[in-house]
Amino acid sequence: MQPEAVTEFKGHLRGALIEPTDPRYEEERKVYNAMISRKPRLIAKCADVADVITAVHFGRQHDLRVSIRGGGHNAGGLGVCDDGLVIDLSLIKYVHVDPAERTVRVGGGCTWGDIDHATHAFGLAVPSGIISTTGVGGLTLGGGMGHLTRQFGLTIDNLLAADMVLADGTFVVATADKNSDLFWAIRGGGGNFGVVTSFLFQAHPVRMVCAGPMLWDLDQAADIMKWYREFIVQAPGEINGFFAFLTVPPGPPFPEALHFKKMCGLVWCYNGALRPANQILGPLRSFRPPAFEFFAPMPFPMLQSMFDGLYTPGLQWYWKADFVKELSDEAIALHIKHGSELPTLHSTMHLYPINGAAHKPRNDDTPWSYRDATWSEVIVGVDPDPRNKDRITAWAKNYWEALHPYGAGGAYVNFMMEGEGEDRIRATYRNNYERLAQIKAKYDPNNFFRVNQNIRPEAVAKVSV
Ligand SMILES: Cc1cc2nc3c(=O)[nH]c(=O)nc-3n(C[C@H](O)[C@H](O)[C@H](O)COP(=O)(O)OP(=O)(O)OC[C@H]3O[C@@H](n4cnc5c(N)ncnc54)[C@H](O)[C@@H]3O)c2cc1C
Repeated sequence: MQPEAVTEFKGHLRGALIEPTDPRYEEERKVYNAMISRKPRLIAKCADVADVITAVHFGRQHDLRVSIRGGGHNAGGLGVCDDGLVIDLSLIKYVHVDPAERTVRVGGGCTWGDIDHATHAFGLAVPSGIISTTGVGGLTLGGGMGHLTRQFGLTIDNLLAADMVLADGTFVVATADKNSDLFWAIRGGGGNFGVVTSFLFQAHPVRMVCAGPMLWDLDQAADIMKWYREFIVQAPGEINGFFAFLTVPPGPPFPEALHFKKMCGLVWCYNGALRPANQILGPLRSFRPPAFEFFAPMPFPMLQSMFDGLYTPGLQWYWKADFVKELSDEAIALHIKHGSELPTLHSTMHLYPINGAAHKPRNDDTPWSYRDATWSEVIVGVDPDPRNKDRITAWAKNYWEALHPYGAGGAYVNFMMEGEGEDRIRATYRNNYERLAQIKAKYDPNNFFRVNQNIRPEAVAKVSV
């Protein structure tokens, strides 16, 4: 690549072009997971759609490996690539709420914290994840589950439209009526089909929620898990609760006596008033009174950022995941064995409910093919110290290997590392994989967008199968 070409590219951007010689380069190449250290040739910080179009043309003309970075949260580091071009969207940040239609138009570089902040003023929210620093782009395109899943479905179930720049640099709008095949594909198919510069979401009435964790000693974990597996499949949609093994952080609101203690917990979110919430959770409190609980009315954005302080950018992350249909007694016993051996303070295991409203669409209504699962399980090794990288990785792998036989087959694409293999991706999309590969062949026949959980264009896929 000639230096003149880079200079010309830079001249066309409203945003910034960061080269390795730039003093900002070291900071700009970082992603949320500090285990990832990739060295792109160029980072295009796009300010608008025109910049994205320019960057896509440049990447194609120079045959560069191209990654798309939204919030940079992908644990596999799929927002960055070695020796290629990063199309960074973090400057494309705006949130326009239409309170009459209850819709929200957001820029492709927003985080969920940006969106929650803007929608809360109108008593609205869009279903998303549980950490506010996560990017809207990656989370949405992979599916999106969080505290509102049981009431309002996955994030993709609330996506109404997307503005996109395709692999050939053309700009299209994808909705249920326009480019409907593309609209189907991006609701779970990840960043395979183009750069989404803007998302339009349906929002819902959510203002104050009653929410927070309840914790129990590990010797009660079997009882809690068994109670939870029965409860969550028939509970009202207004309540969401995920199960966790965790180590109690050494700070408020946790009492000192519990600091650093390994425990199990349920993190609740009830979209409504305290009295009905307490009625629903009363039987649990009587069955096994929690050792500690922090369940209280709070503004929804407070819940959404409750764990941000613990999971700050720059930690080491390694995770493994599966969808789970049934939680048998044997699986519970294995969970307790491995969950009791959390290797570090930040390491955890979560079981997120996939039921309630998330069960309404059929498996092929969107590419997200595990509507018949009950949970999405993620085993997460996390630590600030790079020297613990192998320890957290080995723990997560061992735990996952023990539980995988009890899983439903595939895993949530957003909970996979890089390079888990095509079999894992196929297992995740199940019968939807072929249709995704056909749509990929139509919109990105040369697999230009391949730094992702890659769906290869149909023709390429067939040659090598
Ligand atoms: C701490 C933490 C908590 C999380 N919690 C949840 C949770 O509660 N629920 C949940 O569902 N997931 C959760 N996730 C997983 C999360 O959904 C994925 O990590 C997701 O990839 C993050 O999106 P991002 O935009 O920040 O990522 P990035 O690393 O920026 O992007 C990841 C990939 O997404 C694609 N992409 C991103 N933006 C665009 C775009 N605008 N256009 C096209 N492609 C794009 C690209 O392929 C890119 O390689 C969590 C992750 C972390 C690290």
